[in-house]
Amino acid sequence: MTSSWNNNKLIKDWIRPLQKSLTIETENKFINILGRNKYFNDYLHESLTRLDNLNLSDEYLRIFNEFSKKYNEYNNLDINQRKRLIIDTRKTLYKLGKTLEIESSNNISKAVILNKTESSLSLDSDISLIKNVGKFYKNKLNELGVFNIKDLINYFPRTYLDYTNRVKIINLKPDNLYTCIANIKRFYIYKSKKNSNLSIMSLVVSDETSSIKVTKFLLGRRFRSYSFFASQKSLYTPGTKLAISGKVKLTDYGKTFVDPQIEILKDNNDNFNFSGKILPLYSLAEALSNMRFIKIIKKVLIHAKQYPEILNQKQLDSLSLLSKGESLINIHLPPTQQALIESKKRLVFDELFLLQIKFLLRKRKKNKNLIAKKLPQKKSLLKEFLSTFPFDLTKSQVNVLNEIKKDLSNNLPMSRLLQGDVGSGKTIIAIASILIVIEKNLQGAFMVPTEVLAEQHYNNLLKYLNPLLVSVELLTGNTPQKKRKEILSNLNNGLVDILVGTHALFEDKVIFNSLGIVVIDEQHRFGVTQRNRLINKGDNTHLLSMTATPIPRTLALSIYGDLDVSQITELPPGRVPITTKIISEDYLTNLFKIVEDEITKGRQAYVILPLIEDSEKMNLSSAKKTFKHLSEEVFFKKKVGLLHGKLNSQEKNEVINSFLKNEINILVSTTVIEVGIDVPNATIMIIYNSERFGLSQLHQLRGRVGRGSTKSFCYLVTSDKNGLENKRLSVMQKSNDGFYIAEKDLELRGPGQILGYRQSGLPDFVLDNLPNNKILIEKAREEAIKVVSNDPDLKENIALRNILIDNSDNKFIHDFLN
Ligand code: ADP
Ligand code: MG
Repeated sequence: MTSSWNNNKLIKDWIRPLQKSLTIETENKFINILGRNKYFNDYLHESLTRLDNLNLSDEYLRIFNEFSKKYNEYNNLDINQRKRLIIDTRKTLYKLGKTLEIESSNNISKAVILNKTESSLSLDSDISLIKNVGKFYKNKLNELGVFNIKDLINYFPRTYLDYTNRVKIINLKPDNLYTCIANIKRFYIYKSKKNSNLSIMSLVVSDETSSIKVTKFLLGRRFRSYSFFASQKSLYTPGTKLAISGKVKLTDYGKTFVDPQIEILKDNNDNFNFSGKILPLYSLAEALSNMRFIKIIKKVLIHAKQYPEILNQKQLDSLSLLSKGESLINIHLPPTQQALIESKKRLVFDELFLLQIKFLLRKRKKNKNLIAKKLPQKKSLLKEFLSTFPFDLTKSQVNVLNEIKKDLSNNLPMSRLLQGDVGSGKTIIAIASILIVIEKNLQGAFMVPTEVLAEQHYNNLLKYLNPLLVSVELLTGNTPQKKRKEILSNLNNGLVDILVGTHALFEDKVIFNSLGIVVIDEQHRFGVTQRNRLINKGDNTHLLSMTATPIPRTLALSIYGDLDVSQITELPPGRVPITTKIISEDYLTNLFKIVEDEITKGRQAYVILPLIEDSEKMNLSSAKKTFKHLSEEVFFKKKVGLLHGKLNSQEKNEVINSFLKNEINILVSTTVIEVGIDVPNATIMIIYNSERFGLSQLHQLRGRVGRGSTKSFCYLVTSDKNGLENKRLSVMQKSNDGFYIAEKDLELRGPGQILGYRQSGLPDFVLDNLPNNKILIEKAREEAIKVVSNDPDLKENIALRNILIDNSDNKFIHDFLN
């Protein structure tokens, strides 16, 4: 008995931290978060392997063994597979935990355990303990990544419907939101012929002014049964009074309420649930209706008050912010628009504030650890390099290099973001920075997002640095095993000075002898966690992060609060501005003649497509098909090449090298060439389905031409009917300035779209609300500085400290607090 009790406790203690890390990974959208000293997947893999002392049944051992294997492969899973695996693991752990509870309390019946009242629940309670949340809804919620009450409260609405607008039918106008009170005249319900999962409810309703059609879509198997149909028929009898709220659209049948919220009004009473209210709309799974979700949320919202408050009353007052509990309640069920705005403000503030605190702690930690290393100078590599570089640096390049030199001569590690337009010459700055560090007998890592680009940088480095006796190696996912072993061993014993590579550099087996600087090219392609993973391979590693997709300073502050910003603001001299034209597909025949002429003059062209192969789902041009068309018909006398992501690295290199040597006249490609490819002889860029690309991406693509002294052209082909007036594309026509274009892109798409969670460490919710809350960023930073300077160990800010430990995605927080 005792031993079984002991064993149960062992198992429970084993389950708890696992569940916690699963929650954290879910909250962080399955990015494989870095914990105290391990990655999430390594932690799970190991925990699920070490089961010897737990005395589990063979069945559980088998299941956990399987999970363990999958976590080992976690990095190769896509988001949905990761989500699935986590859901399965949570379910199994939960089931195991529950059997223990039942076993260990033989005199308490199962029913008692399951019948806990809501008042005894806490934020950590499993959602199955909420009254009326049975197995069905529990599973549905789990699919959304919602496991406990805290998850539920943190599942914010996607948007809201404002039902304060009550109107008579005669006054309804298409494309607006209304609430109407009306009586049923006719009612039908039928199964969709096109979709075997769909039923459609169709009503005609009227008030004293007019009548209108109402269509409601019911998605899910269970809405197709006879019993469901019968139940609806008896509910919606002619004459019944309804409250209908939603969007009115103009259809073939005239004005129609399409998929509104419908509420049956009892006793002919006009008071109904959502009248005059703001209704939250959630992104939900099939067969989990919005109304059902609201019902569940309402039951637990009281627990929002238990949410830890990280700001004291004085701070709340001086910042004019709502309490955390109140804003969490209001974000789900806002009594007024103003309350909703205030709640959003508070919740956005918290995220920004926490991020700033993390930045400040990290800076402090770095400074604390500092040991002043005075290392012997190797020799003047930088000077020699600059003397072999065929051009003079631009003024901007000189300024930036001076800023970097200053940083590197300092004892503090550099953290610098280098923003510079496409073709502004960032690579030279990167090489120069690495050389300064190598002079001190340290190593450098040069991290790039694609293999093609890695190869190009590698060749550049070889050209400039071999004469200086600096050893450079290239490591990618395709480096042959034998070569790889050799590189890794030489890296470890310090024979390699610079390692260029792709994501392969993050791997644990890549161990530097003395890593001194990390350069990240096209840094927006990497996440913060990845960046840190590489930096942590050295002590006090300098960081130079480069981007051709610049972002405004305020935003940079909130996202890379720990980085200083440098900018190259001019292009090297002699560049002729690129002319950009928006054209329709009809114009292509003419365009091809122009291309023919350019090729005859010895120039080259790019043709960019959004897809590799034709797809049934999307009516877009594909690279393979266009290649066939161009190489066999239009340009059958010319050399046409094909480049896309499915080629292996050797094939890719062959194509690019031929293009570089002008053995290929026209390169048909997907966006794999987007980043950094440098072929100065190419003067024509044609982008098909250009409306499919973001502005910054188009600017990057366009930057592949205009790199020499010859006039270049960029043609944006669009099949979009309104394409010629397309606001986004015309920005490209107007400007060649990457900073301006980035600003416009941000304006048109919002930061959420552009930066995304991975990049920023901020939830989409915050990013989407940032444009309206620009001053909040500064306020959050000021407040964070105040807190950290008054209470550097967070001894008095316990709630804050706990939240940081809980959400820690960075090693430094733990190192700092422990
Ligand atoms: P990006 O900033 O887009 O990475 P690159 O570093 O690839 O740009 O530079 C683009 C081209 O400009 C390269 O061919 C490079 O050799 C050339 N370049 C860089 N700096 C100068 C300079 N100061 N004068 C002339 N050409 C330069
Ligand atoms: Mg570049």
